Amino acid sequence: MKVLLTGGAGYIGSHTAVELMNAGCDIVIADDLSNSCREVVKRIEELGKKTVRFYEIDVCGEDALEQVFSENDIDAVIHFAGKKAVGESVAKPLMYYKNNLDATMNLLEVMQRHDVDKLIFSSSATVYGVPKVVPIDEKQPTWCTNPYGWTKYMSEQIMRDVCAANPKLSIVLLRYFNPIGAHESGLIGEKPNGIPNNLMPYITQVAVGKLKELGVFGNDYDTPDGTCVRDYIHVTDLAQAHILAVKYLMEGNESNIFNLGNGVGFTVKEVIETARKVTGKPIKAVEEGRRAGDPAVLIASSEKAKNILGWKPEHADLEEIIASAWKWHSSHPQGYCSVQKEDK
Ligand code: NAD
Ligand code: UDP
Repeated sequence: MKVLLTGGAGYIGSHTAVELMNAGCDIVIADDLSNSCREVVKRIEELGKKTVRFYEIDVCGEDALEQVFSENDIDAVIHFAGKKAVGESVAKPLMYYKNNLDATMNLLEVMQRHDVDKLIFSSSATVYGVPKVVPIDEKQPTWCTNPYGWTKYMSEQIMRDVCAANPKLSIVLLRYFNPIGAHESGLIGEKPNGIPNNLMPYITQVAVGKLKELGVFGNDYDTPDGTCVRDYIHVTDLAQAHILAVKYLMEGNESNIFNLGNGVGFTVKEVIETARKVTGKPIKAVEEGRRAGDPAVLIASSEKAKNILGWKPEHADLEEIIASAWKWHSSHPQGYCSVQKEDK
């Protein structure tokens, strides 16, 4: 079976590529390297023990994507490609709408032209906005608080509409909660790109000494210690869910939506404390005001993924998950740059 991964050189895509290859699939990656680099592809090949057909292309480009489908018999597509920084999306909304929506629409068009009718999409818990009920199941209403979130919300709607018009097409929307951690080898992980937005890469950058201190956004939420609660899921467990989703679609099942989280929440302070224990570093943290748009608590109900896909996340222990992130970051403080002159 041949699976195309758009954005497959990125953080979640690279881990999924390795797991797919280890499950016996052939992989094609299409990535413009706007947030990744060629070294990732080499490492995917090393860990997956097979060569990867790699296209350095912008998925928004019709001719370039057409070539990928003409040259490969693709059975299913996993669409990771997209920009993902919430703050940047607020500052540059058009860049986000253009990149993330054009990529989605172009991909759907080219897939249909080539009769490829199985697609898995990287969506996000961000589509639940500020939820009224936790744990959050897939029936909760959706709404967003920033342009990045809206690109996920709109991509989902575009996909539902295209499925309604073309009954041959089946699409699985995977709504990730907070992916952290890295491959057990420590060879691939999340690329530290400038000043991180997300908690985990920020913590590890403070731990390796690249950043001085961490800001804790808000201490007056209605949570056990006043800081926000999130559901952190190991990236390799997330990768496994993609394999199960591919299998689900290949067996002829209908379009569906699945939340992917551990179903357990940790506060920001708990994450920092655990990271201090794992790294042995002081990790200076200073309390700051709330970050706009942050819901107090986001915890997934992933019962549906467990029941229908047979998904069983294996890493529920926060210490273990953070240790895997630390193995990667402490050995690659500059990301993949440590082995290449430029980060490309
Ligand atoms: P990432 O930035 O590491 O990976 C995305 C990849 O897509 C990068 O390699 C980038 O170079 C590529 N890309 C971006 N635009 C492209 C384009 N137009 N054409 C070709 N390639 C393009 O991000 P990630 O953390 O691996 O996230 C993967 C997907 O999952 C994204 O769609 C993201 O929005 C979604 N997601 C991520 C998180 C998270 O916390 N990491 C949470 C929920 C959803
Ligand atoms: N957070 C923080 N300091 C940071 C980055 C994040 O206190 O430098 C908090 C943030 O307010 C949220 C939690 O950590 O409550 C997780 O944030 P992240 O951006 O990783 O994920 P998101 O909340 O967007 O799902």
